[in-house]
Amino acid sequence: MRSAARGCGAQAAVRHPVIVIGAGPVGLCAAIDLAQRGVPVGLLGDDDTVSIGSRGVCYAKRALEILDRLGVGDRCVAKGVSWNVGR
Ligand SMILES: Cc1cc2nc3c(=O)[nH]c(=O)nc-3n(C[C@H](O)[C@H](O)[C@H](O)COP(=O)(O)OP(=O)(O)OC[C@H]3O[C@@H](n4cnc5c(N)ncnc54)[C@H](O)[C@@H]3O)c2cc1C
Repeated sequence: MRSAARGCGAQAAVRHPVIVIGAGPVGLCAAIDLAQRGVPVGLLGDDDTVSIGSRGVCYAKRALEILDRLGVGDRCVAKGVSWNVGR
């Protein structure tokens, strides 16, 4: 994909084999995953703000498995509290 550089004052169009649209948790993880596998990736998001209020009070096991694969699982767990029982 070619970026919209032409006509915006940029020197040259930039090409990426993969563009991820949306810089939420899924887009960020997909982009990091691709980059760690050596795939050049561009990430486009339309929102550079942090959400009002928490949207990550509780992370499920599968989400932590993915964060672990990306190399940040231990750091995420260290910042939170954990439990292994519930009703
Ligand atoms: C109040 C609340 C509490 C929550 N609590 C938890 C929780 O405790 N644990 C948990 O696991 N989940 C929680 N969630 C759910 C979690 O926030 C979502 O599952 C997660 O954000 C989804 O990630 P996503 O990347 O798919 O989408 P999003 O987080 O919605 O990110 C998508 C991004 O793409 C951008 N975008 C969309 N269209 C375009 C476009 N055309 N061009 C460019 N950018 C675009 C959007 O602006 C956005 O930034 C909560 C959600 C809410 C609302």
